[in-house]
Amino acid sequence: MTVTPNSPSPHRLPVVIVGAGPAGLTLGNLLRAASVDCVVLETESRESIERRPRAGVLEEWAVRGLERHGLADNLLARAERHTACEFRFDGERYRFPYHQLTGRHHFVYPQPLLVTDLVREYADVRGGDIRFGVRDVHPHDLDTDRPSVSYTSPETGERQVLHCEFVAGCDGARGVTRAALPPERARVARHDYGIGWLALLAEAPPSSDCVLFGCHPRGFAGHMPRSPEVTRYYLQCPPGDDPENWPHDRVWRELRTRLAAAGQPPLTEGALIERRVLDMHDYVVEPMTYGRLFLAGDAAHLVAPIAAKGMNLALHDAFLLADALVARFTQGDPRGLDGYERASLRRVWDYQEFSQWLSEVYHGAAAGDAFRAGTTAARLRRLFTSPVAAAAFAEQYLGTAERY
Ligand code: FAD
Repeated sequence: MTVTPNSPSPHRLPVVIVGAGPAGLTLGNLLRAASVDCVVLETESRESIERRPRAGVLEEWAVRGLERHGLADNLLARAERHTACEFRFDGERYRFPYHQLTGRHHFVYPQPLLVTDLVREYADVRGGDIRFGVRDVHPHDLDTDRPSVSYTSPETGERQVLHCEFVAGCDGARGVTRAALPPERARVARHDYGIGWLALLAEAPPSSDCVLFGCHPRGFAGHMPRSPEVTRYYLQCPPGDDPENWPHDRVWRELRTRLAAAGQPPLTEGALIERRVLDMHDYVVEPMTYGRLFLAGDAAHLVAPIAAKGMNLALHDAFLLADALVARFTQGDPRGLDGYERASLRRVWDYQEFSQWLSEVYHGAAAGDAFRAGTTAARLRRLFTSPVAAAAFAEQYLGTAERY
């Protein structure tokens, strides 16, 4: 329910969720399932968020979490199960059969499909309130017990105010809620890799049944199946590079070179339907909470797509925050909210460390430094000669540690 700033006794919502990505939509669904009222505010249109291509790799625990809350029916029916990945270096292929080692697998389900499922469930099935196309979203009075969020309505152009008890900042890396943390309280720990990735989507079937990592002296190349018709590719490039420097022929020539392996058929080529440069960096914002504001997902921590972890962490936060808010509203129990940041950050920092480790495996051979090339080769060899190293890698790659 919306009120203007001058209303005498504003209705107070339990929770306002800023941002309808995987974190915000999962949180919204879980709150509605527990009869905790909320409103989701989103700057983009429904069509736009349902089409935005990004992630695809989901860890098994995250899918089981969605399944427990009735949010994984389509995913379980349509996602592909991946049981291995393959490193290509020195012109050879080295398959890493993580399912054989652990009994676990990854699910591959494009992020737009997951977002579409989550919006449909929240808005159409569970009757949740979600407002698309809102402008100039601002949180207020977060350090009081009466916070609010204001925004401009796309229909009327008027300012609206939602009074609430808690604000969930799920508005991603470019949102506004993180900026509401007072600068003297917030610490942004940031790591820049000093490299770029040209992120590509090709209208072409995958050229292998699994993810391929090309660790090549010319730079990293990745092949990530997304669906029978579409494949994501990555090419290491200078940070800030212009995607226009990468015409069709150059892209496919580099991919063929960097992913080459003896005896393998050539890549299946296709039209490039997305081509953009990502400057690879990570950050973690601490604290993730301020007064009545709780950050979740990319708003609080970004992990470069090196190990395909970001969406998984967004879902992890949504599960934790939903449990904590539901306990607070249904039992008056504040302990989940008090421990939210600590519980989130244990997995976040673990995944950040793994991404750094894996980054060196991907990029060391192209660093132009004989020492780094040597240690990178040693890391790769160890994966395929030491069962202990292989087990440790599988655990981190799948996110299956018993405790974080
Ligand atoms: P987002 O998905 O960014 O959602 C935030 C939402 O908030 C958006 O809809 C945005 O429009 C909205 N918003 C922004 N500002 C405002 C505002 N002021 N008010 C209201 N709404 C606002 N992760 C994986 O786990 N596996 C992968 O395979 C993987 N691959 C990736 C590949 C690429 C090329 C990229 C770029 C990322 C990849 N990731 C991957 C990361 C993953 O996409 C993100 O971590 C994930 O989208 C984070 O979800 P989120 O809900 O926190 O934020």
